[in-house]
Amino acid sequence: MNVLIIFAHPERNSLNGALLDIARNELEASGHTVQVSDLYAMKWKTDIDRKDFPSFPADERLKVASASAESFSSHTLTPDVEAEQKKLLWADTVILQFPLWWFSMPAILKGWVDRVYSCGFTYGVGEHSDKRWGDRYGEGTMAGKRAMLIVTAGGWPEHYSSRGINGPIDDILFPITHGILFYPGFTVLPSFVAYRVDRLNEQEFSILSDKFKERIQTLATTSPIPYRNQNDGDYTIPTMLLKSGLEKAGTSGFELHLKAEPHL
Ligand code: FAD
Repeated sequence: MNVLIIFAHPERNSLNGALLDIARNELEASGHTVQVSDLYAMKWKTDIDRKDFPSFPADERLKVASASAESFSSHTLTPDVEAEQKKLLWADTVILQFPLWWFSMPAILKGWVDRVYSCGFTYGVGEHSDKRWGDRYGEGTMAGKRAMLIVTAGGWPEHYSSRGINGPIDDILFPITHGILFYPGFTVLPSFVAYRVDRLNEQEFSILSDKFKERIQTLATTSPIPYRNQNDGDYTIPTMLLKSGLEKAGTSGFELHLKAEPHL
């Protein structure tokens, strides 16, 4: 298996850095091939702007999606973005690893998504008509590949439970797992979240490492989050509303987009 880890932490000698080493060692020891994009070490350009589309006319008003589509199809994206796109195509499994910062990913990782996810590559893919709204949410360029988040958080697990003040972690991460990973077609595994990490002692680190190794060793076999595929008939087109009656009674919010029977 080819595994790509997108690593977004400014300090290699951090808890995240230690988890990255564990992941790499475990995977390589099992015969897998690992590539890491260490975004801070690469000095990744975070903001998407005109410089991302070198062939785009300087005097034309910049519309990011059309400039992105044009540059993607004419192979005139910048080399750093093209290199990341090649890595994504190479990978069977993609991991986004980051500390939770303000209930989301660090800006450098969001910038990786904004720039690498070109139009025609991860969005704007497939037929768009009155019968079909493209290949997305379960279909698309990344179909057949697995993806997962590795997240560290200062907050306690209770703070992120269904009644916790921060809101449920699956809801907080939904824009990433569903919006960024499932959208271009990845099969998304449950996120690995390490809570209450800011003052870990050696014993807690050892417990965390064991749990983490287990998740890394079972990447290929872990059951995915049962998101509903857009084009399997659950949604009306073009409104993209979930048809009524498909959800378990009492379900609301993001949970509506999970199949009622996880393993069907
Ligand atoms: P580090 O600071 O590197 O380490 C954490 C602990 O692990 C330390 O005790 C360290 O000694 C120990 N450790 C590290 N490596 C090892 C090792 N090899 N062996 C043994 N022990 C080790 N948290 C939230 O829950 N929600 C938020 O919205 C949120 N927003 C934040 C916003 C910002 C800007 C910042 C700076 C923090 C925020 N936090 C938030 C907290 C943040 O998520 C944590 O600080 C972060 O996840 C810790 O990960 P780290 O890799 O930086 O840990």
